[in-house]
Amino acid sequence: SIVVTGATGHLGSHVVEQLLEKVPAEQVTAVVRDEAKAAGLAARGVKLAVADYNAPETFDGLFAAGDKVLLISGNEFDKGRVGQHTVVIEAARAAGVALLAYTSAPGGLTAALADDHRATEEVLLASGLPYSLLRNGWYHENYTENLAPVLEHGAVVQAAGDGRVSSASRGDYAAAAVAVLTGEGHENTTYELGGDEAWSFAEYAAELSRQTGREIVYNAVSVEALTGILTGAGLPAPLAGMLAGVDASIEKGELVVSSGDLSRLIGRPTTPLAQAVTAALKG
Ligand code: NDP
Repeated sequence: SIVVTGATGHLGSHVVEQLLEKVPAEQVTAVVRDEAKAAGLAARGVKLAVADYNAPETFDGLFAAGDKVLLISGNEFDKGRVGQHTVVIEAARAAGVALLAYTSAPGGLTAALADDHRATEEVLLASGLPYSLLRNGWYHENYTENLAPVLEHGAVVQAAGDGRVSSASRGDYAAAAVAVLTGEGHENTTYELGGDEAWSFAEYAAELSRQTGREIVYNAVSVEALTGILTGAGLPAPLAGMLAGVDASIEKGELVVSSGDLSRLIGRPTTPLAQAVTAALKG
């Protein structure tokens, strides 16, 4: 089987959707926490496995020898993601899966957000399993799905200076994962994945202005100021600090991925940012 964790998440949904275009549904297993959220997948013939990264016993016997597994990193920052991911890696090792692909972060990213990914990569390499590190760069959607305050204030407020980001759509990263899960020869590989074009927040604001017909500016603030804005908007302080810290990394160029791995794996150019903006404005 091809087994996908986080299958009811944003990225996981794209992965399962694209897998179904390539392989019969009965060859795909979706690992989900909430069976009800996956009713649509089950109706289409996808096998479901109910398991939680926080409950190791739920992964007992879930994998079979020869499976190809995509471990989608979790989003529970306060629950020890490295321990959670280790639960999955350990179960995969015990079963003897053929490949474990993991959605990581760019190799050059030094922001605190990357720490869990580096540590998970180490656990995976030490497991001796055939691995593929899908070092995903930033999603367009990190920005385009958060347009409400931007449109309200007529400003993109970030702490990245003139830094650039080579983002791509979740669908692009999902396509790369599908290529690795359904293709051959991806054992023990590391892919640095990012969009074909890097853009600055000033360019992003200009694109938003062009598509909305309104003036939207880029307001570059300090990391401290952005942390304050994010906590003011209701984010817990540690998360706000972590997200603002990513902007410091962007200013240093750490989210520019120039390997070309993503378009090479998916066999087409990556989705332009402008297209994600159009989709988001259509709502
Ligand atoms: P989502 O938050 O949409 O998905 C996270 C998935 O992880 C969900 O399916 C969720 O399950 C699952 N999950 C979380 N905790 C557990 C748990 N304890 N046990 C089992 N499953 C769990 O994020 P995306 O799909 O957009 O992105 C995937 C991952 O990539 C994120 O979790 C994060 O690690 C990382 N990320 C990367 C970004 C980038 O720009 N490269 C940006 C943001 C995140 P459920 O569906 O039940 O909620």
